[in-house]
Amino acid sequence: MNELNIRKEIISTCQKMEELGINQGTSGNISYRFNDGILITPSGISYEVLKPEDIVFVPFSSKKEYKGEYPPSSELDFHFDILKAKPQVDCVLHNHSIYATSMAICRMDIPAHHYMVGIGGGKKIPCASYATFGSSELSQNIIKALDGYHTCLLANHGVVTTAKTLKKALNLAVEVENLAKQYIMAKQVGEPVILSDKEMDKILEKIKFYGTKK
Ligand SMILES: [Zn+2]
Repeated sequence: MNELNIRKEIISTCQKMEELGINQGTSGNISYRFNDGILITPSGISYEVLKPEDIVFVPFSSKKEYKGEYPPSSELDFHFDILKAKPQVDCVLHNHSIYATSMAICRMDIPAHHYMVGIGGGKKIPCASYATFGSSELSQNIIKALDGYHTCLLANHGVVTTAKTLKKALNLAVEVENLAKQYIMAKQVGEPVILSDKEMDKILEKIKFYGTKK
């Protein structure tokens, strides 16, 4: 994809997050690996008025030398650090979707109550330890939580998903929200039964195979 198309897709994905109800106001943000740096949503501009040229480029060589009219998202640190640390990932998506964030507020992992938990890469969706938003400590906590996973919750904050494409990162964010909603709803009517490690091993094997078919 060329640079303009990436910028356009970042904006359309922001708008889709809004349409899908997994984002509130300007709280979500998105980044995409490009050349020797990242393209990222600017700080505090509402998605309806966002133009391709408003997306900010930040070179891996220095966070301070960003190129754009507006400063990058206040969550630049973890977008930048994840894309730098994980060459297998090209996109990072962040939001404060209600149900997943509710579990993050309780500082809970999403357990294996449903086989779809496996699309996060493991036997749960882990919750990263708490640190102040925008801090490098938060960034380090997220990278630690993402070890072996494509997504994690952020304690008292929200959700991060990572993928090769924005479409996959968005689908994963929708699924994490569904999983959190299912777990919270199941808690209202009884005690959710969590799938065993052995069953999850089988599921993860199938998901791995499923993922390679495309
Ligand atoms: Zn946030």
